[in-house]
Order: sequence, then structure tokens, then C-alpha cells
Amino acid sequence: MLQTLDWLEFISVSQNEWKHLQKNCVIVKIIVSLQNIRLFNNRMKLIHKSYKFRISPDNEQKILLSKHFGATRFVFNRYLNSRKETYLEEKKSLNYYDNANDLTKLKKEEEFVWLKEINSQSLQSSLRNLDTAYNKFFRKQTQFPRFKSKYDKQSFTIPQSVSIEEGKLCIPKFKKGIDINIHREIKGKLLFATISKSTTGNYYVSITCEVEYTPFEKTNSKVGIDTGIKDLAILSDGKVYENIKTLKANLKTLKYEQRQLSKKTKGSNSRLKQKSKLARVHEKVTNIRKDYLHKVSTEIIKNHDVICIEDLAVKNMMKNHKLAQAFTDVSLGTFYTMLEYKANWNDKVVVKIDRFFPSSKNCNVCNYINQDLTLKDREWTCPNCNTTHDRDFNASINIKKQGLKILSCGSGIDSQDKQKRSKALPLGESMTSEAHPIAFGVGG
Ligand SMILES: [Zn+2]
Repeated sequence: MLQTLDWLEFISVSQNEWKHLQKNCVIVKIIVSLQNIRLFNNRMKLIHKSYKFRISPDNEQKILLSKHFGATRFVFNRYLNSRKETYLEEKKSLNYYDNANDLTKLKKEEEFVWLKEINSQSLQSSLRNLDTAYNKFFRKQTQFPRFKSKYDKQSFTIPQSVSIEEGKLCIPKFKKGIDINIHREIKGKLLFATISKSTTGNYYVSITCEVEYTPFEKTNSKVGIDTGIKDLAILSDGKVYENIKTLKANLKTLKYEQRQLSKKTKGSNSRLKQKSKLARVHEKVTNIRKDYLHKVSTEIIKNHDVICIEDLAVKNMMKNHKLAQAFTDVSLGTFYTMLEYKANWNDKVVVKIDRFFPSSKNCNVCNYINQDLTLKDREWTCPNCNTTHDRDFNASINIKKQGLKILSCGSGIDSQDKQKRSKALPLGESMTSEAHPIAFGVGG
């Protein structure tokens, strides 16, 4: 590509003449701005981004979708069971390929001929999800895979051949396109899609695309983040992101509706009604929270190059089972996932402190460890150096220190390395399945 100076030689003008031309000649102005666009493009990279839309299948399509939900669930559960049994009986571990070979044979049996109605790639993708769940368990990132239930949120993945034609979603095995409400422009090349049905009975599609993206500028800033119940994030540079009030108000409604549900008789009609009412409030709370988490995570990634956080598994050691706590946990899972994939998009680094580390009890000035600190103490004075600490702010400074230590030893989780390791999985998987089914991450 020709740089400006090459251009000058090319058209043989002096720098002064060039400056004059830039001011006065329209064609030269256009050349310069085109060149700026090309320079700008050089910073661009390709990333995966997901868009979520509501879809409205007709009755026939609903039946076929329901068959897809059922068949992919059946495949997942059947092979989860076979992996478990093979291990118990033969002490042998089955992998994806064992399962996929068996599935091919299974489809030829008369009893399972109904599987042929289903997009075979969606079935294979269900096996891949199972494999991912197993790998995550072995990497101690999640609990042992659970059997899927038809009462949970339903979903299946279409790994390829997804398109939008004349405002309809076109996928394999469906003769007609499905009505889709595209409320924002889809950019980039369509890669794969996941169709889901919420517990409220709504259908959605999440389409993952490969898009051109310009990463944020480097800031040279490093930050530690502590997280809590009252505040979502306390940063070591003093910035605090509160948990939003609308969420608190809605949590009250949620608690109320949940109490109402526990009063209804099991199996009754009114219980079913209450259940879907509860699910609607849940969905609303989830959306409000997700928007806020997007806003905060984007801002943090924009402002800092290195972001140090505590690993959730460690944080969960102090877990209790109150509703607010449960929500905090889910939020944090989503929040950390967003930080990680946005760090990836922007060539920034998330360092996870994955061992137990007394971030709150440690004085960040003199390293004295305050063993008497209880969860109630929001503020404390170090008996050794007399510094008065705000509990969370002190913790965030310690998290930053510890994170930078890990980074300098080279053992921190660089989100780019992590991305390389998980490249075999579709990004949508790594973005969504870590947290909770309701915490579905939509790029933004
Ligand atoms: Zn001290």
C-alpha cells in the first residue's frame, strides 16, 4: 500500500506543494481521506458477534422446532448417560467421535428413524455441547453436566447454512422461512445460529456473525476489580459501579412472585399461571441487568488495558443461598464473561486470580493480614500502619497487585491465549454457557 510520502514521489510534488494541494484540490482531498480509511482499516480485526431476535414460527414450524428441541435434548441426555455408564462399567472415557459414530449407527435403526427429520448438524452440535460440558468440568470450571429437562429453556444450534432472506430466517429442514423481527442491522457474515424457546413460551434466535471490528485504543492503564452485593464493581482507581436501583425494585417483585408460587398447590392450573408470571418478571430483570452489565464492561475495557479479577469459583467459597446472592453470582458470571470476550475483541488482558487470596483482609499498604475482619466490617484501620481502609477499595488494590504479579510470572489467564485454546468451539458457546441459561450474552 502506498503511504503519503510514496504518493509524493509518485506524483513528484514537494511537501509544501502537497500541503497546498490538500487544502485546495478536491481530488487530493478525496485521495487523502481514502488513504485515512485504509490506514484505519489496518487496525481492524474480525470478531464474532451475536445478535438476538424474536422469531414467530407458524404452527407447523412450531412442531418441527419442538422436534428439534426434543431430539437434540435426547441426543445430549442419551450420550451423557452412555458416557457415565461406560465409565462406571469399563473405566473408559468416551469422546465426541465415539458418540458421533454411535449416533450415525443409531439413526439407521428403525426405532430411531425419527431422528432423520432433524438437521443432522444440530444433533452433532448437541454432542459437541456435551463434550464442552465435560471438558469444562475436567478443567474445574463448572459442575458435572446435568441431564437436560424439557421444563428448562429449550435450545438447539444450527452450525451452518443459516441465512436471512426477504425478512425471514432460513434454516435447513424448514421448507419456509420463519418470521423474524430484525430490530437492529445485522453486520458481517452469518456463521451459525441458536434457536431457543424461553420458559415464557417466546421463540428467539441468536445469530453469530463474523464482523470487522476496530479495537479500542491502548490506555496503558491497569486496574483491579472487586465485586460485591451492594456494588457491582469497585475499581482500584476509585471508580465504583453500583448495582442499579431498577434492578433492586424488580428483585422485590421477583421475591414476591416467588413467594406466591410457593403457596400454590403442585400441579394446579394456578401454579402454572404463576410460574409463567414469575418467568416474565425474571426475563425483565435479566434484560435490565444485561444492558447494564454491557455498559459497565465496555467502559472498563475501553479505559484499561489490564483488568485483574478474582476467579468466581474462589468467590463462591463464601456463597450463601439467598436470592440476592444467587442473582449476584449469575450477574458476576455474565459480567466476567463479557469482560473476557470484550478484552479479546480489543486486544486487552483479563488476569484471573485463581487461588485463594485474602484480598479483603490484606492491608494494601503494609501487607498486614487482619484475621479479625468480618463480612460486616465495611471499614477498618490497619493496626500496623494506621491506614484506614474502605473494605472493597482495599480489596481491589490487592487484586490488582496480585494480578500484576501473576502476569509478570506469566501464569495469568491471558484472554487471547484462552481464545486460542477454545478455538475449536463456536464462540457463542464460550460466551453463553458459562453462566446461567438466562444470562445469554448478546454482543453490544
Ligand atoms: Zn497496614
